[in-house]
Amino acid sequence: MSTSSVEWQDTEELKPRAASLADFCSQNKLPGKQIQQTPGTLAFIEKKAIESLHDFLAHDMSREHGGVLVGEPFFDAAQNRHFVVIRTAIPALESEGSSVHLQFTPETWEFISGLIEEDFPELAIIGWYHSHPGLGVFMSGTDRATQKAFYNHPWNLAVVVDPIAHKTGWFCGADCEVLDQLHVISYTEPVTTVPAVASPTQEISSVEMNTGKGIALKTCNGCCLSDCWRRRSWWEYGFWAGIGFDREQRR
Ligand SMILES: [Zn+2]
Repeated sequence: MSTSSVEWQDTEELKPRAASLADFCSQNKLPGKQIQQTPGTLAFIEKKAIESLHDFLAHDMSREHGGVLVGEPFFDAAQNRHFVVIRTAIPALESEGSSVHLQFTPETWEFISGLIEEDFPELAIIGWYHSHPGLGVFMSGTDRATQKAFYNHPWNLAVVVDPIAHKTGWFCGADCEVLDQLHVISYTEPVTTVPAVASPTQEISSVEMNTGKGIALKTCNGCCLSDCWRRRSWWEYGFWAGIGFDREQRR
């Protein structure tokens, strides 16, 4: 983006939790030996999170869109390296943007922080993502300034997608070091640990989706009878995050 204010200020310092990369790989049925041979910081992203991120950025290619990456940073002391696990990608539904610019509004931040507090209290914002429709994937001067100012830990991530060219770039740390394919691994979480907004067994028909039942009833605590922005956003968030119904159902 050329001009931006995609910033996030944590009230307390987020510290990476000690964890074993080998254990994480075996818990998630990933080829641990192979993965551990790749040096440096690794990013793991839940399959649904990367799919919803791409779906959201492709839904409107007339302008830039973006959001935040939510998950947890870890530090493997034995291997002396960080790895980051992205559990969900929250879209900035009320952002302002053009083909070369993106700005998150106060409403965007209110929605994002409310969602994290209620549904992902154990997680934090570990990075951000945005689109460059037709411009290619790179970190612009403004993108770099944003990264340096607000996402400057060695494990902070930035994802840039050109949804027209179908290209994705991953960048890491204050200096936006490029993460290649070997350093970005998608995985599927065991079902029991996925934070659910709607009950996974809950059947949501297209009629119910349109009227906002299901997801809204579970997530819009108390205020779901009125057509508030929060309810709308929750519904849209569920749509873009693929929560409550699978990708085939919503096509
Ligand atoms: Zn940009």
